[in-house]
Amino acid sequence: MTKIISISHIDINNQAEVQLQLENFAQKYANATIEYSCEICTDGTVYTLRGNETSVDPTIIGITKLVGAIGIHNHPPNPNGTAYDSFSKSDLLFCCKYKQGKQYVVSLDRRNAFEFTKFYTEDEIYFAYRNALKTLRNLHFRATTEISNEQEEILKILNNELKGFEFYENF
Ligand SMILES: [Zn+2]
Repeated sequence: MTKIISISHIDINNQAEVQLQLENFAQKYANATIEYSCEICTDGTVYTLRGNETSVDPTIIGITKLVGAIGIHNHPPNPNGTAYDSFSKSDLLFCCKYKQGKQYVVSLDRRNAFEFTKFYTEDEIYFAYRNALKTLRNLHFRATTEISNEQEEILKILNNELKGFEFYENF
């Protein structure tokens, strides 16, 4: 179960304060073995949340608070080799469902971000993701190569093919 572990306030119009929140979170939780998230809401309220090994649920702060909110969460390093996974399909669908702002993820040295600058429904993103996976499999099949970072490779395809979706490899 997700718990709120701290609440603070910043000036949301001050980019330096927003960046500081993101940087502090990244440094503190990049190696964490359970998932945490920080939600920076449009009114300047900043919530830090603690989840479990596989997820953290930001809806605990109330779904109206999530609209437009900037979020950052960590993915615990996986000993089975997917330490460098990027955003999951669920991460994208969650962002659409609650109309969130820019999203960030950290996992060891990985620091990715994405944002929607155009509104999409969950169904549209579900199918866009599925098509991107199909494109990715075809590309690797033709090149006789293996998919190494499936999520990141899909996000790069979506960045190129889906209007209003921006993926950032580093923040
Ligand atoms: Zn995630």
